[in-house]
Amino acid sequence: PYTGPSANEIMAKRKEFLSPSLFHFYKNPLNVVDGRMQYLFDENGRRYLDAFGGIATVCCGHCHPDIVESIVNQIKRLQHSTVLYLNHAIADFAEALASKMPGNLKVVFFTNSGTEANELAMMIARLYTGSNDIISLRNAYHGNAAGTMGATAQSIWKFNVIQSGVHHALNPDPYRGVFGSDGEKYAKDVQDIIDFGTTGHVAGFISEAIQGVGGIVELAPGYLPAAYTSIKKAGGLCIADEVQAGFARTGSHFWGFGAQGVVPDIVTMAKGIGNGIPLGAVVTTPEIAEVLTRRSYFNTFGGNPVCTAAGLAVLKVIEKENLQENASVVGSHLKDRLIELKDKYEIIGDVRGRGLMLGVELVTDREQKTPAKAETLHVMDQMKEIGVLVGKGGFYGNVFRITPPLCFTKEDADFLVDAMDYTMSKM
Ligand code: PMP
Repeated sequence: PYTGPSANEIMAKRKEFLSPSLFHFYKNPLNVVDGRMQYLFDENGRRYLDAFGGIATVCCGHCHPDIVESIVNQIKRLQHSTVLYLNHAIADFAEALASKMPGNLKVVFFTNSGTEANELAMMIARLYTGSNDIISLRNAYHGNAAGTMGATAQSIWKFNVIQSGVHHALNPDPYRGVFGSDGEKYAKDVQDIIDFGTTGHVAGFISEAIQGVGGIVELAPGYLPAAYTSIKKAGGLCIADEVQAGFARTGSHFWGFGAQGVVPDIVTMAKGIGNGIPLGAVVTTPEIAEVLTRRSYFNTFGGNPVCTAAGLAVLKVIEKENLQENASVVGSHLKDRLIELKDKYEIIGDVRGRGLMLGVELVTDREQKTPAKAETLHVMDQMKEIGVLVGKGGFYGNVFRITPPLCFTKEDADFLVDAMDYTMSKM
């Protein structure tokens, strides 16, 4: 049993010694002390179904035994920087990751986070093209360092840093966007930005395939092919941010961009890549990667033996346990059940997403799509009391983000929907 400090004691230390900007979702924040696959346990041993931790940390499940074993074996043997000597772990994982990529995407740069991966990708695009302008999407989240904060396009995540050279294009949001599900119409805005806002040459374009922080917004069909065409014509590189949608989560494809039928020039990833271990990566072609030989480039811990051992174990588990297939089967079932719930409750304005990356948007008025922010918090809190953890996001904070570990079962999905149903029935 757990004998550490209580939730209140931890809260007091957080207030005194940690960032005053830290936030938590629940009225009474949860003190999680153990994790096991799709479950978390609090200080009293109470079990919670974790339907959100999948993107934040664990794609394969909390403390997955194979992954823990790989990490422990490696750290007992050696942990070091990656740069000074040879070690097999980084090379083996880079080879395995490259085998999961389409086209000629086979050169991997490792980082420690998604922010770092996107910073590097944007710099590579600028070096390769000799241009500065980058186009990203409104409602995107790409990180919180100066460059990536510029590409992030939600005021709630922006501080007053210099945001140079980034233009934000119309978001191809099928639910709230002006052109509904017509991806090609939204993509015209990318062409307009190039024509009116730049020299006609750009460094690149960066987007998620399904916006995570932005509230599980799957880009309208046909958007990426059309946007990529405009970018390529302007000499730019197309960057796919797979930090949330990658690693089999969408079920239909291993990478989120797969559903749009495009092949990016650069792919960035983090979060699920290491099942909770800090790790990020940028993958590109040998020709583009060459630009980093112009100067010295290095990252002390990017691709260190322990993190890359974890990464390789993750790929093996996804394969061995058929997690992509599971994301597809369980995700479709869960989505169907959530759509049934939408027929029952007026407050559910939209159910969307793909595989085990699903969103449920709450509105007080279906016509006006007025965000039901307080109700979202309430349902989330009540579901926690029943033992189910979901995430929250979207610009208005009124979207449930359902992104569980990929080992989620149909029974888990049913329990989640039943908990949401019960909570809504009491409102
Ligand atoms: N890209 C996307 C799509 C993300 O969701 C995030 C994190 N929420 C990041 C980049 C940044 O990753 P990190 O927090 O690891 O820097």
